[in-house]
Amino acid sequence: MSKNPLHPATGCVWYGEETYLMQGATQVPVVHSVSYGYEDVDEWLAVALGEKPGHIYGRNTNPTVHAFEEKVRLLEGAEAATSASTGMGIISSTLFTLLSPGQRVVSVKDTYGGTNVIFTEFLPRFNIEVMLCDTTDHDQIEAEIAKGCDVVYLESPTNPTTKVVNIARLSKAAHKVGATVVVDNTFATPINQNPLQLGADLVLHSATKFLGGHADALGGVICGSAGLIAQIYHYREINGATLHPMAAYLLLRGMKTLELRIRQQNASALKIAQYLESHPAVEQVFYPGLATHSGHEIASEQMRGFGGMMSFMLKENTFDAVRRFVPRLQHAHAAANLGAVETIVGPPATTSHVECTPEERAAMGIPESLIRYSTGIENTDDLIADLEQALAIF
Ligand SMILES: *Cc1c(COP(=O)(O)O)cnc(C)c1O
Repeated sequence: MSKNPLHPATGCVWYGEETYLMQGATQVPVVHSVSYGYEDVDEWLAVALGEKPGHIYGRNTNPTVHAFEEKVRLLEGAEAATSASTGMGIISSTLFTLLSPGQRVVSVKDTYGGTNVIFTEFLPRFNIEVMLCDTTDHDQIEAEIAKGCDVVYLESPTNPTTKVVNIARLSKAAHKVGATVVVDNTFATPINQNPLQLGADLVLHSATKFLGGHADALGGVICGSAGLIAQIYHYREINGATLHPMAAYLLLRGMKTLELRIRQQNASALKIAQYLESHPAVEQVFYPGLATHSGHEIASEQMRGFGGMMSFMLKENTFDAVRRFVPRLQHAHAAANLGAVETIVGPPATTSHVECTPEERAAMGIPESLIRYSTGIENTDDLIADLEQALAIF
């Protein structure tokens, strides 16, 4: 095994790869076998009891899935990792593992749409108190944490207006009351941000997005201490939201270029955000790399790069403006996804916040003309030229 830690670019390529290579293969095999046979019953027992490494049954663990978990674990600098079939699979497993009736969770209003549904619809059914704070009001979040809670759940930057929360500050506040801190690091990726180093207890990803990077596989992953990960793994093996070995292989392969892709996306997104900010048809650009962004200072402290995600609001603040503008883009998929090699655009009105009324979206600070822009790895000048010709109608 290679010495750790490696430079992230090297780690993306080599971490987790070496454990399961067989017969000289240079790539991790996709192991489709559901079960694993043992001639020695005592060895079988030792593996089943977790005393020896190995695999028993595919809903629990799998070699290809394990290689993927190892790659993410090492990039996040964690003791342990486990995975699930989707980002929501790992988020729901985590929240239902960590919370019991009568307990309290403090989070922010701008979490991912699916996460927000768990907070507003499902956890209250189990008599779990949910407090959702204004995402950028750190004094309020701190005050709510200080009242006592069991879990603090954060996301940074958030979807779709890229709000930034101070992970170190809120982790400190959480630990004072004995709460466990969970951070959704999907937008930042381990290349730009390592929440565990900032004080969080658990860091999770929708691997469907930047980690896989090719919009062809779903997955979720979480990293943290061996004790916490064992509890989440135990719940996930029983609820059955297991990551498929073929998806794990695609994610593993996609991750080999993660550092390269993120470096390109960081650089492109900053230039594009600056271009859009200066365009007369654009009212406002939300990108943590811009000095005008409310979270720029915190982002500069806790992130190594500002990521590929941004959103912008048109001067003509109507959904009709979005309807006319989006189809004009040549080098962008109009789709409900993000984090891929292709640039992807989507208005929150049709994607993350489709279930809200225009009034509700406005109350959440999401204007009708907001467009979420996930920067791909295309040539930066091509992307700017594409935006230029599409914005020419205004
Ligand atoms: C997409 C996404 C999720 C959910 O992931 P799935 O793989 O679609 O279940 C969670 N958090 C964030 C920030 C996301 O963008």
